Amino acid sequence: MTSTSVFVSGANGFIAQHVVKELLSKGYTVIGSVRSEAKGEELKSLVKNDNFSYEIVASLTEEGAFDEVLKKHPEVTVFLHTASPFSFSVEDVEKDLMKPAINGTLNALNAIKKYGPQIKKVVITASAVANFGFGPHFDAEKVYNEDDWNPITYKESLENSFFGYFGSKKYAELAVHDFMAKETVNFDISFINPPYVFGPQAYVVKDKANLNLSNEVINRVVKLSKDDTIPAEGSVFVDVRDVARAHLVAFENDETVNKRLLTIAGRYTLDTIANIINRYFPSTTVPKGDESRNDEIYKNVHKYDNSRTNKLLGFEYTSLADTIFDTVEQIYNA
Ligand code: NDP
Repeated sequence: MTSTSVFVSGANGFIAQHVVKELLSKGYTVIGSVRSEAKGEELKSLVKNDNFSYEIVASLTEEGAFDEVLKKHPEVTVFLHTASPFSFSVEDVEKDLMKPAINGTLNALNAIKKYGPQIKKVVITASAVANFGFGPHFDAEKVYNEDDWNPITYKESLENSFFGYFGSKKYAELAVHDFMAKETVNFDISFINPPYVFGPQAYVVKDKANLNLSNEVINRVVKLSKDDTIPAEGSVFVDVRDVARAHLVAFENDETVNKRLLTIAGRYTLDTIANIINRYFPSTTVPKGDESRNDEIYKNVHKYDNSRTNKLLGFEYTSLADTIFDTVEQIYNA
């Protein structure tokens, strides 16, 4: 057991709830930030653990957003920054995606520098979209790894919400590297760069018709009827419980300092997801997938080599079949 206190920003998020659950199971004390008291109370009632408490940080973009909570919690020695807008449909890309991602991250780092000198470890929930190129920047031949940067420019990021999300994660992460190069700080930093994160909700499914954005990839298949056509789509994924564990490895293992952990478990197509669902849930309405077209679909999926990350993590990723089973089981039966 440990008496270490860990701060988790955006604690009610899909990934963060798993991070909180994993931390508590390992004996850490957790202080999570949420945007409102209602969200804090809801999370507290789900978590049901005396080692969990919450603080309200209403806006990531407000200067000094994290100052008060860090002044109040001098016991915190680890800060996990997961809060960031994850949406592909916003009205104003700069205001709704870029600014909260970039300024929110800088507000966290500035607060740690000023009011958390005892904080020794910081982990940033970044994204594989900061590594991979998309649209005009997608390179089918390239094998993407931990060192790569999405070539998207700030200006291109403002073109639409998809590019806006990619840009928000790229420029938020770049801002951290820039901060670390310029400032003298007391903490080590590491980054978790996951692709699409799948898996069950840590506590409850609030709305089975609308899961969190990344799990909607699976839910779109779940919602298909026997005569529907499965879209010819695929990408790369990782299970949310592995992403949560990676956050712990990132501050527990000194070898991850300054590293970008490209946590990718494997590839998927919607056809393979449909077939896994049919295998485990024979009474499903989901049509059978045609996996003979997988190779064609994979031509448009990023090739990657994350062997350096996998060595540092030291655990095996959850398989696609297990991720899909656990996610769909929760939708059908919870
Ligand atoms: P969620 O949307 O479930 O969680 C996002 C969290 O950030 C929530 O707590 C949310 O608060 C908070 N947040 C969002 N915008 C703001 C804002 N403007 N001000 C304050 N808080 C805000 O997403 P995920 O759990 O999926 O994502 C968590 C992190 O992981 C993000 O940084 C995301 O970019 C990253 N990521 C996610 C991937 C995925 O596939 N899910 C893949 C790669 C990276 P509230 O609930 O109040 O909106």
